[in-house]
Amino acid sequence: MAGGGRARPNILVTGTPGTGKTTTCSLLADATGVCHINVGDLVREKSLHDGWDEEFECHIINEDLVCDELEDKMEDGGNIVDYHGCDFFPERWFDCVVVLQTDNSILHDRLSSRGYMGPKLINNIECEIFQVLLEEAKASYPEDIVIALQSDTVEDISRNVTKLTEWFNNWRPRRSS
Ligand code: ADP
Ligand code: MN
Repeated sequence: MAGGGRARPNILVTGTPGTGKTTTCSLLADATGVCHINVGDLVREKSLHDGWDEEFECHIINEDLVCDELEDKMEDGGNIVDYHGCDFFPERWFDCVVVLQTDNSILHDRLSSRGYMGPKLINNIECEIFQVLLEEAKASYPEDIVIALQSDTVEDISRNVTKLTEWFNNWRPRRSS
């Protein structure tokens, strides 16, 4: 059940690496006072993984450990979860699922300047071209809570943060019946 007993909503911000999730979530947390949960950081800090993937140079996330770690916080509400994946979180956790999207050539430049190359760079650009995260979000959550937002420019970021802040402040708990 969406919004099951929470006084404040939970938002999931997903999208291909480099689309601006962490930047957007930090600003949204500043604007609303909610807790920004960067799942990548949490996995590193609490070792919620099963080792290191050499090809893609990232930890192999242990989805069960991550969900166990977050369950109590999510039940309380008032969280913004930041992760480049969304199909393993319980559907009931989120009141809004935001998928950030970026023009391929802009994303390519962002990831290159972050030092991505080879299969890691190609894999992420393909992920964006084929809208993998949007499809994953639509397959995992009710269609009416999934929104795609463009994140090409700093103006896009401000507009997205304003829009999500308004949504957050206007959200009301659903009455159980
Ligand atoms: P993610 O968390 O999705 O991997 P980040 O928020 O870390 O993305 O952003 C990656 C880089 O791209 C950062 O240097 C950030 O400043 C820049 N960036 C992200 N989104 C935008 C945007 N909409 N306009 C301009 N720069 C952006
Ligand atoms: Mn990030």
